[in-house]
Amino acid sequence: MRRESTLREMGLGPVWRLRDAPVDNIGVSPVPKRGFPAVTPTSAAVEQAPARQHLTPTLAAGEGRGEAIARMDWPELKSTVADCDACMLCRERKQAVLGVGDVNADWLFIGEGPGAEEDERGEPFVGQAGKLLDAMLAAIDLKRGDDVYIANAVKCRPPDNRTPDPEETSACWPFLERQVALIKPKLIVALGKPAAQTLLNAEVKISASRGRLFDFKGIPLIITYHPAYLLRNLADKAKAWEDLCFMRSTMRKLKGTV
Ligand code: SF4
Repeated sequence: MRRESTLREMGLGPVWRLRDAPVDNIGVSPVPKRGFPAVTPTSAAVEQAPARQHLTPTLAAGEGRGEAIARMDWPELKSTVADCDACMLCRERKQAVLGVGDVNADWLFIGEGPGAEEDERGEPFVGQAGKLLDAMLAAIDLKRGDDVYIANAVKCRPPDNRTPDPEETSACWPFLERQVALIKPKLIVALGKPAAQTLLNAEVKISASRGRLFDFKGIPLIITYHPAYLLRNLADKAKAWEDLCFMRSTMRKLKGTV
């Protein structure tokens, strides 16, 4: 009953249909954390981009910033993000939003950036898109904060909810990289194109990337739609359900429970 109601909340009703997830063709096998073999995405899904650049003046001035962030523990990371002015997004934020959830989670979901409600409340995914994300999690028996951590590519709200520009994602990158290193998730889920591009440092086509496993520093990475996109494109919710099933089956294989 619970699954039915969460699927209804996702707007999938009784009409969703399971895709045959291609997990058997992608070589996923149970392995310890950090030991996952790299899965090279096809060129149709990811086009090579130039090496990640650190472009903001503040960053250029802050020699060694990335290295310093890479050594931080959670309290240091939290306070550094709260006071950060490394890109223009600090100017209009009410507060920086680091992330929320279980810092030892197997699941790490990464979105784009905080919106108005997130900026107000200091937590990612708390508006309508957040409700949909919670419903999506519930559909595969997951819950925010319980073996799940949720973060964004940038920690401060882009004005008018625009997509963060490359300088901003680049400036914020060391924080996200450190979060991944501290959490050590078994599986990363990129919600939407900006998150996927930030993690892979490459141009990504969501439609060509769904249902595939990518690799982020030895951690399997799955790409799906951002919940805000799904709210505007109801027809794609069925595809999101397929992606959720793919995530769940991948995690089961990673944990060796199938
Ligand atoms: Fe700093 Fe990231 Fe906020 Fe930019 S978005 S000011 S890099 S915390």
